[in-house]
Amino acid sequence: MFKILIVEDEPAMQLGLKDNLEFEGYEVEVAGDGERGLQLIRDNQYHLVLLDIMLPKLSGLDVCRRVREERNQVPIILLTAKGEEIDKVLGLELGADDYVTKPFSLRELLARIKAILRRSDVNDKGSDEAQIGRLLVNFQKYAASNEEGEVKLSHKEFEILHYLYEHRNESVSRYRLLEEVWGYDDAQPTTRTVDNFILRLRQQVEKDPKDPRIIITVHGSGYKMVDE
Ligand code: CA
Repeated sequence: MFKILIVEDEPAMQLGLKDNLEFEGYEVEVAGDGERGLQLIRDNQYHLVLLDIMLPKLSGLDVCRRVREERNQVPIILLTAKGEEIDKVLGLELGADDYVTKPFSLRELLARIKAILRRSDVNDKGSDEAQIGRLLVNFQKYAASNEEGEVKLSHKEFEILHYLYEHRNESVSRYRLLEEVWGYDDAQPTTRTVDNFILRLRQQVEKDPKDPRIIITVHGSGYKMVDE
């Protein structure tokens, strides 16, 4: 189970985040000020920290700076308020992984949390090579090759491939792919976008893209990656 720490001083925000993250199946702990947050980060292994910037005792930016100075690479998402543009940039420079601006939608936050957890999950596994049809893929390095040499894939193509690979032999709907891979993007892609990406991936993966055997179509729903 993924363990998340919320460092936030506003009681309503604390409670709302905690309830919603627990509902999503995460284990959640809460700290109400920066000092307490820093202490918990030192004493525990979290998969992710949601860190408010304006905090009593120690600001979120100070917490972030100290955590990174101590070589702790726990993923951090900063919670910033409108008008804290400078803090946002500074936070990323200090080593935060992402930020959301209050007021944010829960859906947006959850998408970002999932994206970060997915990324660190891949990194944790170390060597993450997979043979997918003709394509040898290293998800950690975002590298791919076939018998002829290096194959250039876009970031999104890697993400789609990875998602399907992680859910092999499972039918994955276009909407699920949109939600999981595109998530919080500002551009609003359609299911047609997904189809186009799949067509391109098949060109790389399948021996005969016109007769797909690896990324197959599930009629009326979406796609499924099957073992050869
Ligand atoms: Ca605050």
